Amino acid sequence: MTREQAIRKRDKLAARFSSPAGVLRGSLLQRMIHHSSGCRKCARGEGHPLWVLTVGYPGGKTRQVSLRPEQVPQVRQALQQYHQFKQTLEAISELNQFLLRLDREESKDEERQP
Ligand SMILES: [Zn+2]
Repeated sequence: MTREQAIRKRDKLAARFSSPAGVLRGSLLQRMIHHSSGCRKCARGEGHPLWVLTVGYPGGKTRQVSLRPEQVPQVRQALQQYHQFKQTLEAISELNQFLLRLDREESKDEERQP
């Protein structure tokens, strides 16, 4: 890969995301809630689905956020956006690392020249 190719690739990746405003980190879980008594649904063994957003933090801490069913599509999309953003940032970082190494190699070559 040449410098020009790396720069073009990096800038293309960077341009893909206009704004990180919609990102959300975590994972989506579905839990079943069962009432112990007085609920026909639970008496039939069906239970009630409950959506939870689980977010992990350093030190093994996690936070759980209960979601209304209508929030689930939005949350799912935001989680996907976070993932895409992260992957793109990682790819851009790799390309910048490549450029950094290229700069170093080139300055070394210049030093060697008489
Ligand atoms: Zn119930």
